[in-house]
Amino acid sequence: MKRFLIFMMSLFLTFLVVLSDGLVAADDTSPKPIKSNYHIVSDSSFAPFEYQNDSGNYVGIDMELIQAIADQQGFKISISNPGFDAALNTVQAGQADAVIAGMSITDARREIFDFSDPYYTSNILLAVKNGSNIAAYEDLTGKIVGAKNGTSSYKFLEENQTTYGYTLKAFDEASAMYDSLNSGALDALMDDEAVLRYAITQGRNFATPISGEPSGEYGFAVKKGSNPELITMFNNGLAALKANGDYDKIISKYLGETSTTASTVDETTIAGLISNNYKQLLSGLWTTLSLALVSFALATVVGIIVGMMSVSPIKALRIFSAIFVDVVRGIPLMIVAAFIFWGMPNLLESLTGQQSPINDFVAGTIALTLNGGAYIAEIVRGGIQAVPVGQMEASRSLGISYGTTMRKIIIPQAVKLMLPNFINQFVISLKDTTIISAIGMVELFQTGKIIIARNYQSFRMYAILAVMYLVIITLLTRLAKKLERN
Ligand code: GLN
Repeated sequence: MKRFLIFMMSLFLTFLVVLSDGLVAADDTSPKPIKSNYHIVSDSSFAPFEYQNDSGNYVGIDMELIQAIADQQGFKISISNPGFDAALNTVQAGQADAVIAGMSITDARREIFDFSDPYYTSNILLAVKNGSNIAAYEDLTGKIVGAKNGTSSYKFLEENQTTYGYTLKAFDEASAMYDSLNSGALDALMDDEAVLRYAITQGRNFATPISGEPSGEYGFAVKKGSNPELITMFNNGLAALKANGDYDKIISKYLGETSTTASTVDETTIAGLISNNYKQLLSGLWTTLSLALVSFALATVVGIIVGMMSVSPIKALRIFSAIFVDVVRGIPLMIVAAFIFWGMPNLLESLTGQQSPINDFVAGTIALTLNGGAYIAEIVRGGIQAVPVGQMEASRSLGISYGTTMRKIIIPQAVKLMLPNFINQFVISLKDTTIISAIGMVELFQTGKIIIARNYQSFRMYAILAVMYLVIITLLTRLAKKLERN
């Protein structure tokens, strides 16, 4: 049964691959674009290299550099910003063509990525809160130190953990990490020097007591062996921008004396936050609602089918449904989502040798559908089994068929019993969409995190998010209750 499920999933994914345009083989080394569009991934907040500005657009050195190079070399790009670790995974899984994210060129990474020529150099550096008494690595004994997952900083801290005896904490993205240092949940953190210095000039109250550790140069990267023309075009474009002065212009725009990114609207009040970000918040809400509604509709179909199987007189169907429910319910939703979004394309690529990207919305919908389907199946089974068996027996003894008895007698009573649980499951499913942010999906929760990464207003922003979810869920449950009464 498990095999059958995997087979069906592979079939579905293969179908998606055929639909997508990522099929073109990339074995030409001439510096001409081979794909009509290159999908580039990046960090979600790594100012001044990539961050959202007041109007919700991604700006920064990396963002401008890659666009200028694409224009100069005549290729088209689309950019998404799932976060550093997620971006690297996405390229590894063949889901995106390349990553530009202030990514240090290291020997370990050269094993799995092909890098461009370097375009920037930065150390990694320890930061503490102003006034902290940490002045050397030795002072970190017994302290809690944070770094972003998958970064050079994390690796450095991991390697030196036993020497200095601190606890290492991993973060998915910068805003949560910086807030933790600010609030005292962390005693120190490590990040790239250029990024820390920038955060301090933007008003972060941090100090950097120790001089930095070399972590090398930043490069643009593709998965080893794929898209070689992209690397060549990047190198040619970078050389051209350096020659004509555009490279220096981009750098000094963000790091020069006159660089300014000050917000025009006061974002330290709830009203300011809302008026400045309502478009992003509404678009995040829309994604959340679409994810929840589409996946819940599909989950209902799956749940009814599997639930009916679980009470079927046919043993094979009962076994199938029991396995389905156990397997799906026994795996955390986040792992199911990561498996579908990163795992399956990776498997398919190693089997077929072709990139098999899957859209994050589709992956999220499949994960939520499977998850919701398993729970709804249990609700259906419970509802049907709550109708006394005597009714089925009585009806069958009158010569009425199984199908008719189910339809006319059992189901109508069962549905009444199921409805409250069903509404409950919808609320749970809607809240579960936040988990899908882990694969880089910019739904409501992720939208909020990105805004916080820019303005550090975590208290007010999370309060706004909480109220938005509360209002939406209350409205939808009211509506469902009304429908239930009818
Ligand atoms: N330069 C660091 C690295 O490559 C951090 C990059 C980032 O956090 N975006 O590991």
